[in-house]
Amino acid sequence: MSWPIWLPLRKDLQSMTVYGAPQLAAQAALNTNENPYSPSQALQEAITQSVALVASTLNRYPDRDALVLRTKLATYISESSNVHIEVKNIWAANGSNEIIQSLFLAFGDGDAIGFTPSYSMHSLIAQVTDTNWTNGQRNPDFTFNIDLAIAAVRELKPTLTFITTPNNPTGDAISIQEITALAGVVAEHGGLLIVDEAYAEFSQEISAVTLIAQHPHVIVIRTMSKAFAFAGARLGYLVADAKVVDSMMLVRLPYHLSALTQAAAEVALDHRSELLAGVTSLVAAREAMELSLRGLGLRTLPSSANFILFTGFSASAPQLWASLLEKGVLIRDVGLSGYLRVTIGNEADNQRFIDALAQLL
Ligand SMILES: *Cc1c(COP(=O)(O)O)cnc(C)c1O
Repeated sequence: MSWPIWLPLRKDLQSMTVYGAPQLAAQAALNTNENPYSPSQALQEAITQSVALVASTLNRYPDRDALVLRTKLATYISESSNVHIEVKNIWAANGSNEIIQSLFLAFGDGDAIGFTPSYSMHSLIAQVTDTNWTNGQRNPDFTFNIDLAIAAVRELKPTLTFITTPNNPTGDAISIQEITALAGVVAEHGGLLIVDEAYAEFSQEISAVTLIAQHPHVIVIRTMSKAFAFAGARLGYLVADAKVVDSMMLVRLPYHLSALTQAAAEVALDHRSELLAGVTSLVAAREAMELSLRGLGLRTLPSSANFILFTGFSASAPQLWASLLEKGVLIRDVGLSGYLRVTIGNEADNQRFIDALAQLL
């Protein structure tokens, strides 16, 4: 992109390009790891009722500290991971991307590292907030390598070490033993370990929220965008030591989380058993999709999330991506040569994808 010279855009931003998956119309949208199940009629009605109540008070600012919502999030994390998490351990924002941005604003003084390929927003937000970012290595098959990670952290001594489990776009999860080992290494030089668990509900691994009491420098990022099927509402949060949450209050914008968002998210949390039931079907559909892809002679990376990275096709990734789109199926080219990522959708969309792929291979 070229910028006019009258525009005093920061020098370090001038060479950047705008990030985002193409938002194209397609019959099957399997590109952004959204949950395919729309809110049930009952949930829609409950949200509508709650939002109607809030509508009468929209002349007032929302609760700046989102206490009701954070209390419900604390309850959910405590019950799902069998830990004691309180409201003071939770911070909520407009999607976990805002959480990541707040972490950089508060702690982005030294270096930051992540182990790539991983979630590109970590390095992108580092760049936008002017924090030095290092791409750490994974195994040649893209799985996480704890020894490489420990060596890189010992050498760089970053303030912020990012891991993503299950990882996007590869799908592999990191065991709690390995996270604990890395937390120990990060503590040696006084850094923070950020564990992005956007897909935790799809995985069998123990959550890193179980480490926080013993390791206060471990911060876990969660979102309602994936398992809770709530991407449109924009609600992400972190689970951490109370002092981390206190730091978030220094960098947050006042009243950042609208009263409408808070109200809708509270209702969704009250309906969590219904929403999380969809996770079980998606995991089963993921396993079926893995079999179908292998049946077509493709190789899939082991996934603990709601998407699959696959390879083994002869066209280039951009070519196959475009051919699928012509057949009404939108998946994701994540920029890895020879690989494409597909989100698990509903039964019809998954079938459309497999049928289209079978015709193209
Ligand atoms: C989808 C995703 C997020 C979620 O972002 P939101 O802003 O909460 O929608 C965060 N981290 C990873 C690794 C993701 O894939």
